[in-house]
Amino acid sequence: MPVLASPSSGSPAMATGPISGDQPFIQVRDLVKTYGDVHAVSGISFDVMPGEIFGFLGHNGAGKTTTIRMLTGRTRPTGGSATIAGHDIVRDRDAIKPLINLVFEDQNLYERFTAIQNLEIFADLYGVPRRRGLELLEMVRLTDAAKRKVKTYSSGMKQRLLIARSLINSPKVLFLDEPTRGLDPTSARELRDLIRRLSDGGTTVFLTTHYMEEADELSDRVAFLSAGKIVALDTPRELKLRFGSRTASVLLRDRQEQTIALDDPADAGRLAGWMRDDQVLTMHSQEGTLEDVFIALAGRSL
Ligand code: ATP
Repeated sequence: MPVLASPSSGSPAMATGPISGDQPFIQVRDLVKTYGDVHAVSGISFDVMPGEIFGFLGHNGAGKTTTIRMLTGRTRPTGGSATIAGHDIVRDRDAIKPLINLVFEDQNLYERFTAIQNLEIFADLYGVPRRRGLELLEMVRLTDAAKRKVKTYSSGMKQRLLIARSLINSPKVLFLDEPTRGLDPTSARELRDLIRRLSDGGTTVFLTTHYMEEADELSDRVAFLSAGKIVALDTPRELKLRFGSRTASVLLRDRQEQTIALDDPADAGRLAGWMRDDQVLTMHSQEGTLEDVFIALAGRSL
């Protein structure tokens, strides 16, 4: 997966028009949205590469949904600019529409219709062949339930069906706002597998989530948003190494388990002592978590 090493910064002039190759698929520069006195998004800049899973993380009210709403043409930016596939999000909305789709929390399905009927309605709306519905049900592993009414579906199945519906126009970028919220661990895992398969197939995924482990597992890069600003942007691994605290779990001969901070000289001294006295049975080191990074950057946990 293509990965940029560092966040984009500054405000380079943006050309509009079709893009190709390894150019960013989404380019955002100094994007601002205010509602009266409320600064929902306060000048953010970043690039998303084609096929990348880009995690967008932040507390409630950090500005995630507002950013998605601007990028998908649902609300106009107050300032700054952004392009998708080289098309300006404000001026070229019609060119962008066929390239994107969106799954957000309170979207509705036709509960009294079957899954395949739901998809066929949207196939007709988008002017694509109805057989696309079956292909998509296959992709989200709902073929066996194609003829069941949606009201009999579990939350996880509904969420997979919503994703299938969002793929009806074969979008190049899929915006997923909290896709696994409220799902049980198995359904959430199935959904994450699906997101990964989409990305492997070349779809760019812009993902918001409150689940740090999910962001870590799925995202090629993550941006941390705090009070409308991006406070960090990099690969999960790089962020964890830079901001997380490295620890080791040490099992001693007396069966006591100790956790030591590898960056703490006092702990390093304790470890050296145990090693010297041949007290160490096993030792597992681990990097910090994205949760640690977020607390370090935003002052509190998600
Ligand atoms: P959550 O995780 O709760 O969905 P979020 O990161 O998506 O939060 P936004 O919904 O983008 O945050 O909201 C950012 C800020 O903008 C909040 O202070 C919110 O109250 C405010 N806001 C969002 N939409 C509007 C609106 N239509 N009118 C006024 N204020 C708004």
